[in-house]
Amino acid sequence: MGEAPAFTADDLQNGNGFPISNGFVLKSKTSETTTVIGDKTYLIAGSDESIGVEIYNKSTGKWMIPIVLGKGPKPSKGHSAFAINEDRLLVIKKGASPEDCIWFLEVDTQYVREQKKTVNAEIVAWSKGVIGNAWKPIVISGPSGVGKGTLISLLMNEFQSMFGFSVSHTTRKPRELEKDGVHYHFTERSVMEKEIKDRKFLEFASVHGNLYGTSIEAVEVVADARKRCILDIDVQGARSVRAGSLEAIFIFICPPSMEQLEERLRARGTETEEQILKRLRNAKAEIEQGKTSGIFDHILYNDKLDECYENLKKLLGLDESTVANNQTAPRGIDLPVDHSLSKIDSKIFIDCGTLGSGKASKNLIVLDVSFLKGGAPGRTRGLDVCTVDS
Ligand code: ADP
Ligand code: 5GP
Repeated sequence: MGEAPAFTADDLQNGNGFPISNGFVLKSKTSETTTVIGDKTYLIAGSDESIGVEIYNKSTGKWMIPIVLGKGPKPSKGHSAFAINEDRLLVIKKGASPEDCIWFLEVDTQYVREQKKTVNAEIVAWSKGVIGNAWKPIVISGPSGVGKGTLISLLMNEFQSMFGFSVSHTTRKPRELEKDGVHYHFTERSVMEKEIKDRKFLEFASVHGNLYGTSIEAVEVVADARKRCILDIDVQGARSVRAGSLEAIFIFICPPSMEQLEERLRARGTETEEQILKRLRNAKAEIEQGKTSGIFDHILYNDKLDECYENLKKLLGLDESTVANNQTAPRGIDLPVDHSLSKIDSKIFIDCGTLGSGKASKNLIVLDVSFLKGGAPGRTRGLDVCTVDS
């Protein structure tokens, strides 16, 4: 940003960027917005290529460009931005698709504060708002060879439109039938280390001598496809995810015995003898932690595959009726260019205009700030759509 801003912080206070107060109604205006929270003014500017963020700090009198985490919104016909509380801005894209109209720029949430601890810079993070009851992602862990991949494949084949796999990054070499971008993003250690430093990862761990990690993008791609995300990660990764803001269901898969685990690993025939022995050694600690760490909501024994698969479906609530319906994704709404917004107590109402021709009713997106869930890195849930008669 240039040294001298075209407007002062006081101008901003009186301009587009006033924080909204109870009952105050704003019409969305431009694709460049300024929003004041405390001493800071957040400038969100959209160009044809990107949406950028800059911060003016009133106490230092300086502009700065923050580190921006997460994949932010793509440019649109414009946007409006409002401070919904001290820790995040609501950003509404004009004329955007149902999946893409509501965004949050987190400026002082727990996740952002955690990130700031390790770096002396301003940090903000994007999170996309999801309308309806978005499903919780599913984290599956267990020792190598227990059958995680087999169970996940069964689930993804039976419920193709419902589940999406979070494709991890790894520095290990591909197995014979593994495809880059499908089973893993196979990568060099130096590249992955750089991306970890650039905070592209939700979690990462060193497993059996290689680096593995879930990029923020891997999870977002699945959410964008309006599917329920499945993560196959080790216990260390599950612990990191548990500590973060991604609300998920954590499932640990146990082998019936160490002998059977060894048999399965050998029968798979994908590892060298040295690798098999290393994986078996690590399995003992993983099983111990899986059972006792308190990370996991459910422990499933994979003795007979079909029984274990039935139990997995049961705990995910996939009964006969959901199989028949193949569960539809959360609903969305087309946000017109000319939406308006009002706030009453902790609720924000986004007026999306009338429904169809001649009907005296309209769509409202309702966002109760006290019920927002999740957030960066990932999605913000807790938005609802309702129709009101006018
Ligand atoms: P993971 O993904 O946990 O490393 P895999 O899904 O690759 O494990 O399974 C390892 C091997 O064990 C595969 O050859 C698979 O076909 C086999 N397998 C999986 N579940 C069972 C089971 N319940 N009984 C016997 N073999 C199994
Ligand atoms: P494999 O080499 O057999 O594919 O995987 C080895 C181990 O790495 C498995 O326990 C698997 O769950 C774990 N793993 C795979 N992807 C990730 C990841 O993104 N993060 C973490 N922490 N572990 C992973």
